Amino acid sequence: MTIDTHAIAAAVKAAHVQYAAAPGGANASYIPYLASVPATLAGVTVVTIDGQVFETGDTRYEFAIESISKIVTLALALEQYGADEIQKKIGADPTGLPFNSVTALELHGDRPMSPLVNAGAMATVSLIKATDAEDRWAQILAMQSKLAGRQITLSDEVNQSEQTTNFHNRSIAWLLYSANTVYSDPMEACDVYTRQCSTLITCADLAVMGATLAAGGVNPLTKERVLTADNVPHILAEMTMEGLYDTSGDWAYTVGLPGKSGVGGGILAVVPGVAAVAGFSPPLDPTGNSVRGQLMVAHVAKAMGWDLYHVPGSGGAP
Ligand code: GLU
Repeated sequence: MTIDTHAIAAAVKAAHVQYAAAPGGANASYIPYLASVPATLAGVTVVTIDGQVFETGDTRYEFAIESISKIVTLALALEQYGADEIQKKIGADPTGLPFNSVTALELHGDRPMSPLVNAGAMATVSLIKATDAEDRWAQILAMQSKLAGRQITLSDEVNQSEQTTNFHNRSIAWLLYSANTVYSDPMEACDVYTRQCSTLITCADLAVMGATLAAGGVNPLTKERVLTADNVPHILAEMTMEGLYDTSGDWAYTVGLPGKSGVGGGILAVVPGVAAVAGFSPPLDPTGNSVRGQLMVAHVAKAMGWDLYHVPGSGGAP
């Protein structure tokens, strides 16, 4: 497929012009570090599967990856266990409840349901085959780095901020333990999960990560095969089901692309076989998705006609 690079550049620019200062939302406040990030930051990036980069705004500002790290650890677990085992042990369904819901666990017989909610993400961390916590962490960080195409690092400041306030997540980890649905020491799973949320990425990194998925597992910048091609559709399906928390259905309905957001203000949409669109801006809606990020990414997708559910040649506008 030929990609209209002029159209992408124009769409990225227009998305930023229209929405970089859109009102509404508030920085996440339950993690002290996130509350302190300048709320005016906003950037949008597209990376195509052949490695072309289009970006406008604060696309090189480093922010906390947060929940977006869940797709990376899912990818690693899929590489180690295969799709059937992950579906059996974790699940592939939306919980219909907030990302850190304890009720969701209770309602579903303590099965996490999705690797993209906190319970499922910690269970996924615990599955990673490792000799100890440091080995587990090193593998996850290496996978984040390979997907981004550069060495990703932990922010001690973010990690400290989260490790000293993550009591809710610790409770979830113990609930998993009581139900035999965590596969390492539960506090180790929570610790490593908290670290994986505390790495710093840019909007440009995020788009490269997404473009690696869009390219079937090959990083378009480094050309390294990072993931088995067969595992990529499972990651994209999980993103469709639960990537934007409990408004994932609305995102599928209106934008039609697998997405993933994080409470650090990052948001990613993947156009399989074409490109990825990443947005960043700290203020979040009540569900936890970046207000401006959603608007900017949706604008680019719409302008480019990128919608998986649009029937080509049907005449309908995607
Ligand atoms: N570290 C955050 C938490 O566990 C990540 C949440 C998110 O981005 O959804 O609450």
